[in-house]
Amino acid sequence: MIPAQFDYVRAGSVDEAVAALAEHGDDAKVLAGGQSLIPLLRLRLSYPEVLVDVGRVDEMRGVRDDGGDIVIGAMTTHYEVLHDPLVREHAGLIVDATSTVADPAVRHRGTFGGSLSHADPAADLPAVAAALEAQMVIAGPGGRRTVAASDFFLDYLQTAVGPDEVLVEVRVPKHTGWGHHYEKFNRVAQSWAIVGVAAVVRRDNGSIGQARVGLTNMGATPVRAVAVEQALAGAAPDAVAAAAKHAADGTSPPSDLSGKADYREHLARVLTRRAVAAAAGGS
Ligand SMILES: Cc1cc2nc3c(=O)[nH]c(=O)nc-3n(C[C@H](O)[C@H](O)[C@H](O)COP(=O)(O)OP(=O)(O)OC[C@H]3O[C@@H](n4cnc5c(N)ncnc54)[C@H](O)[C@@H]3O)c2cc1C
Repeated sequence: MIPAQFDYVRAGSVDEAVAALAEHGDDAKVLAGGQSLIPLLRLRLSYPEVLVDVGRVDEMRGVRDDGGDIVIGAMTTHYEVLHDPLVREHAGLIVDATSTVADPAVRHRGTFGGSLSHADPAADLPAVAAALEAQMVIAGPGGRRTVAASDFFLDYLQTAVGPDEVLVEVRVPKHTGWGHHYEKFNRVAQSWAIVGVAAVVRRDNGSIGQARVGLTNMGATPVRAVAVEQALAGAAPDAVAAAAKHAADGTSPPSDLSGKADYREHLARVLTRRAVAAAAGGS
């Protein structure tokens, strides 16, 4: 289908993007890689009057080292993230999950920040951001603010980014040396997750020092499997199976054509056991 008519603004900087968004308010939308937004426009499920293209804003692109964090520009493509040595060394979980996102064509256009901003419950990266306790840097007319991943995802396709704001970059605390694994269950290769589990484990003298677990598609927003994390703190590796039984505690998974809620709860338990065991080095 042909999208509804819209005006197009190409921003050259974050300030220009914010100014254009502030001028047009709810009538405007940010265009990043277009991999989620363009299909919505073509289906006329979204019909903004103005698109603010941030594709040429260099300050929103690339990965840099900043002490205890790596900082990933929102416009860094999935392909660039996958091949970045800093991401590989300090946040391998992002590489695990990004390698399961769609296909090479989508990964060359789609962006890290676009995926987080779109906040699809079935997308792989929001649960990863939750597990790694990422911090989102958002620019608006009043300057910049930082929002924790736990406060960023508000509801189905809704985030803390306001209509006159742009997600500029994401600060990811370094998890150097932590074990990591993303376990995704989908019906066919390269499709969206029915359920996904993102796990990082800090090993400590043969025990699990600390585990962080994020769940994909177990609610309208990514959730942390808190009961699993608590059961694993300081535990022996053979505690994983028992802890994983709590993976669905406190979640509200959807029922849809891909599976009913109780099936997703079952998947969460099985996939959490696999993801944590792999991150912990096998058990
Ligand atoms: C065939 C196909 C299969 C896919 N499979 C998967 C999959 O398996 N797993 C997965 O996780 N994803 C999947 N995706 C989605 C893909 O990861 C997209 O890259 C992502 O959802 C959106 O990124 P984008 O840069 O294209 O954003 P866009 O489509 O340009 O934007 C998406 C939304 O986010 C907003 N936005 C984007 N960037 C910003 C910003 N910096 N600040 C504020 N708002 C912003 C836009 O206004 C829009 O509302 C798939 C997409 C396709 C087309």
